[in-house]
Amino acid sequence: MLREEMKRRDIPCWCWISFGDNPLGIAVGIHKEVANLLEDNQMIDFLLEKFDFREFSKMSDSMQFFGFDHAGIKKDAGEFVEIFFPIPSIDMLTDKPCPHCKGTGENDYFKRSCSYCEGTKKEISHDYKSISAVSASLSVLFRYPQMYSPDEETTSKINQLIVLDVVCSKEIGGSGIGGVWSAEFCNYLHWLYNNQEKKKIVFDEAVRAMKAIHFHCYYKKDKNLYRDEFWVNVEANGRLMINFSGDRCGIHPLEKSSFGRVCEFSCHNVDTPVQQLGLLAAMSVIHDKAREDRGHY
Ligand SMILES: [Zn+2]
Repeated sequence: MLREEMKRRDIPCWCWISFGDNPLGIAVGIHKEVANLLEDNQMIDFLLEKFDFREFSKMSDSMQFFGFDHAGIKKDAGEFVEIFFPIPSIDMLTDKPCPHCKGTGENDYFKRSCSYCEGTKKEISHDYKSISAVSASLSVLFRYPQMYSPDEETTSKINQLIVLDVVCSKEIGGSGIGGVWSAEFCNYLHWLYNNQEKKKIVFDEAVRAMKAIHFHCYYKKDKNLYRDEFWVNVEANGRLMINFSGDRCGIHPLEKSSFGRVCEFSCHNVDTPVQQLGLLAAMSVIHDKAREDRGHY
């Protein structure tokens, strides 16, 4: 199993993640030699039953789409198949007057901006299903045995950097994200730690990605709200930590130090698909940068 073998040596890339800001979303690249093997209907049936994805349309894996409710859009990307998952908004401004302030935009008593409509006077409707479909589709994708840990090496010239586990369930803390950072990726984190200028560029962009997801999903007039809850940091021993808005919601490594070897990572208090996809977006940005900076670290 190549996931285990990563502990001992570099493994040719079988999948990657990448962040897109226009349109906003997360792309997953799957090496064609692996993509051709992703047919395991028994496992999918098991997952559908276990995680109760019945609210979504049938899971699709066609030439064009992957996932529930056509959440992922496929395209050819050279030796890889790319599946792009656009991030859907949750909050939508309607034409109806806000029922909480009766269309005045103000809280009756204090004359402050109505917190339900953010002072817009219009009712804000909420669609949680579309973003859950993205999370559920990713959780199925990364649980195919050949995605989790392929049997055969691909012919790719680049190395596998991150292996992901994505969980989607309706329980509190049920939108988990974890996985493994390869030795090469951990070396990149060490390099960033010692390269303050570069570190700032990479982490600022990761924070921007998290905020973009948060404020795309939720209608908030005040974009500075919760600003300090989004951060990324790496310590001297290469420990990467990513924090998203919420109650200490974030990603952290499970090892004390990671230099020169693989490092498992896990998450804390990731309750919603927005938090999960926001953290994944930050991770994707750092992954993209690690690829760009290849040869320098
Ligand atoms: Zn209102």
